[in-house]
Amino acid sequence: MSAAVACADPEGTVGAFLCRAGQRLRAAAIEMPRLEARLMLAHAMGCRTEDLLRDPRTPVPPAAALRFAGLLERRLGREPMARLLGAAEFWSLPFAVSPATLVPRPDTETLIEAALAAFPERGAPRRVLDLGTGTGCLLLAALSEFPEAKGVGVDAVPEAALLARRNAAALGMGGRTVFLAGSWGAALGDCPFDLILSNPPYVEAGAIPGLAPEVALHEPRSALDGGADGLGAYRALLPEIRRLLAPGGRAVVELGQGQRGPVEAIAAGSGLRTLCCRADLGGVDRALVLAAPAGI
Ligand code: GLN
Repeated sequence: MSAAVACADPEGTVGAFLCRAGQRLRAAAIEMPRLEARLMLAHAMGCRTEDLLRDPRTPVPPAAALRFAGLLERRLGREPMARLLGAAEFWSLPFAVSPATLVPRPDTETLIEAALAAFPERGAPRRVLDLGTGTGCLLLAALSEFPEAKGVGVDAVPEAALLARRNAAALGMGGRTVFLAGSWGAALGDCPFDLILSNPPYVEAGAIPGLAPEVALHEPRSALDGGADGLGAYRALLPEIRRLLAPGGRAVVELGQGQRGPVEAIAAGSGLRTLCCRADLGGVDRALVLAAPAGI
């Protein structure tokens, strides 16, 4: 590995901090070292990344330098950037994240596209349910598109349900949403929903250690682990969806790569039929759209 080259800007300035941090991140094989260094320093200094670039000789105040050092160490330990910055964007909306929740993924936005396509001329869904809501990103993105709808988000982890509730309030949707802690639909009785969304844990347990370290080491295992074959959560979830789906309702569930066939089979065995499947930007079948049998 090449030795660190000298940084051009004087010690203690924005330019020097960015240069050093960029070198350490690059040496740790982090893909976008300059960008990440800039994002973390702006976060530590409470300014925008553009402000940093204006004058690289701006001194970094000691408290900000300490905060930055802490962030840099955590990033070198492969904590996801969104967790260091405390927020991620999903469907162009801001979501607070925590160790109790999966960082919202761009791939998961495919479910919102599928939900919008599933309700074109039939009137918007009024009752939306998100099972395994995490940050609340699926439910809140859906409600941002269906302004007449109200929604329920459920998560097995109480801290996740609390965080989702805070996210809803911050987005001005606190009055249209209820968040509960519970196992899938168990807390919901027989209340029917027009649209049910879910991004369940679907990674094969044995494959988790091989995921990116940001995911394997830092994301909540309960949001990833789909059991030995990755399909355990669907076996519990799909019968619940069948029970809770209103007549004419639609469910959209996220799939892992290669899971379309097996999940369609579990859905059929649970009394659901597949309407379509939408691919993500990488061409992976990602959002499976399900309905109750024809005529129901
Ligand atoms: N897409 C996630 C990942 O592999 C997995 C999310 C999930 O299990 N629902 O990083």
